[in-house]
Amino acid sequence: MNEKTMFNMSYGLYVLTAREGEKDNGCIINTAQQVTSTPNRVSIAVNKQNYTHDMLIRTGIFNLSILTEQVPFSLFQHFGFCSGRDCNKFMDWDAMLRSNNGVYFLTRFVNGYLSGQVINHIDLGTHTLFVADVTDCDVLSSDPSATYAYYHKQIKPKPQRELKRGWVCKICGYVYEGDPLPEDFICPICKHGASDFEPLANVATAK
Ligand code: FE
Repeated sequence: MNEKTMFNMSYGLYVLTAREGEKDNGCIINTAQQVTSTPNRVSIAVNKQNYTHDMLIRTGIFNLSILTEQVPFSLFQHFGFCSGRDCNKFMDWDAMLRSNNGVYFLTRFVNGYLSGQVINHIDLGTHTLFVADVTDCDVLSSDPSATYAYYHKQIKPKPQRELKRGWVCKICGYVYEGDPLPEDFICPICKHGASDFEPLANVATAK
């Protein structure tokens, strides 16, 4: 079995937002898709390490903001570096509005958003798969959507060649300085585990 086959599948990139009480939060996901059009339904898979996941389990209401090719890496840092358990990601973010469900959606680097109401969820181990009715949606710009492949080629920072000892996350480009990489290491940006890291030296040689 050639597991690299999985990298040939295509995905978009989204900011998933939720609100619980007075708390707003959001995280980055790539696993969103429309699954039926009549009625209009989507599925999203969310890593359990994201606080947005826990909020979604409890509230069942979310928005998905569809990221465009204009999105800077800083947005991924903003919504990925700090957990919503410890910080307010919307305190210093100014490009968002609330939709009819009371949840924020982003208005910059986004070409549309949709509001979801969870109707079912399945425990997948590391992730939960949510199936949701689309209760509202709107187009915000004509900019092309960012695909996961575009993110890897154009948005993610290139590894620094001068670093000799370190590990780079294949998913988001985060660099862990040091060797060895702890077996239980979790990427602070994308929450993927140590198996998705490769030695920095290999990356520099391959480029
Ligand atoms: Fe990562």
